[in-house]
Amino acid sequence: AEPTVQKTHPEAAGSDVPHDAIRGEFPILQRRPGESPLVFLDSAASTQQPTAVIEAVADYHRQSHANIHRAVYRLSQTATRLYEDARIAVARLLNAAEPAECLFTRGTTESINLVAATWGRANLRPGDEIILSALEHHSNIVPWQMAAQATGARIRVIPINAAGELLLDDYHRLLSPRTRLVAVNHVSNALGTINPVREIIDAAHAAGALALIDGAQWIAHGPTDVQALDADFYAFSGHKLYGPTGIGVLYGKRRLLEAMPPYQGGGDMIERVTFEQTTYAALPNRFEAGTPNISGAVGLAAAIRWVQQIGFARIAAHEQDLLDHATERLRQIPGLRLVGTAQRKSGVLSFLLTDPPMAPLDIGTRLDLRGICIRTGHHCCQPLMQRLGIGGTARASLAIYNDRQDVDRLAEALADMAAQAR
Ligand code: PLP
Repeated sequence: AEPTVQKTHPEAAGSDVPHDAIRGEFPILQRRPGESPLVFLDSAASTQQPTAVIEAVADYHRQSHANIHRAVYRLSQTATRLYEDARIAVARLLNAAEPAECLFTRGTTESINLVAATWGRANLRPGDEIILSALEHHSNIVPWQMAAQATGARIRVIPINAAGELLLDDYHRLLSPRTRLVAVNHVSNALGTINPVREIIDAAHAAGALALIDGAQWIAHGPTDVQALDADFYAFSGHKLYGPTGIGVLYGKRRLLEAMPPYQGGGDMIERVTFEQTTYAALPNRFEAGTPNISGAVGLAAAIRWVQQIGFARIAAHEQDLLDHATERLRQIPGLRLVGTAQRKSGVLSFLLTDPPMAPLDIGTRLDLRGICIRTGHHCCQPLMQRLGIGGTARASLAIYNDRQDVDRLAEALADMAAQAR
């Protein structure tokens, strides 16, 4: 019999399951750095991993590890099957038309670099335009700058309002026959704004351009349907979806991927090699040179199964409730200013303490002493911070394992710190 890596979680399957059961599946959240349990509010950077994921990866290493794709022995075939099953799980998660449209990468950053380096350099010409937004993470800015420098293309930027929402009229005005690609995030990591990606993609297509969506901050929080969105490319990272680091996905429409030159050369991505000429493998191998992150893919598949057992309806409802509660609590703290107040928002709370002023770094350090993990700084969004006229923020971000107690401990600590500083 094949060893199985699938761990099921009957206790998390029904929507009437107590939230404590879900939280209880995260060993790290049982840690007590001080008197009280760890309060982890940095899931926008990386989510923690449930036992299902940790065990799937460990089981793979214990029972199924071998290099994939070429060997005749059964252990390698088992590893190959687990890796390709993970691709099927990804395709289902994204509702891709077929698994071959889902490429494994190191993460969102590599996914975007892949498109910029291959599609970008093959298709961009001097005078062509790439439209980004003021909300982008550096990983959806710098690869396009590099492609623009190499090809003579230009970057245009969709501006935002004070709440951190994209100004769509300006976007429509930026679109022109020169536009070749629009690359925006689904959700802003710094402010939590949920962008109207369907409308953005439709407008890009109407202008004859392609659309790439950086789904890093959406993937764990709501259902994704790349066909309904009609996204040309969609990128995400496993470690923001309760999975391991070092594994991510680039979805691309087959006809686009097939027309793109390869990304890296090496083993597994070829059909035939001579010193004179190489012909390349079919999708998806053509874009996966070298030994991939096999255990990472196995862990990602386990994370996808885990999330799907809970269901996005439940995840979204829980996180919305927490976001409302957190917004309310933080608003009551004198001298606290929320940064990013979009109408449609994900579970990200960026804030500043302004009266008396306290640097985000100080806020983060003091919260850490109370066992509360948040992120501080520019969040890899320096152009956004410049636009907002600030150096950075303190940012608390939510996931399915957080509860009202986490939010209350944050709010109490902040109120206390602000009062002490006064
Ligand atoms: N895009 C967004 C919106 C992000 O939040 C992040 C990570 O914080 C990234 C891209 C980069 O993801 P990774 O570091 O996993 O490649």
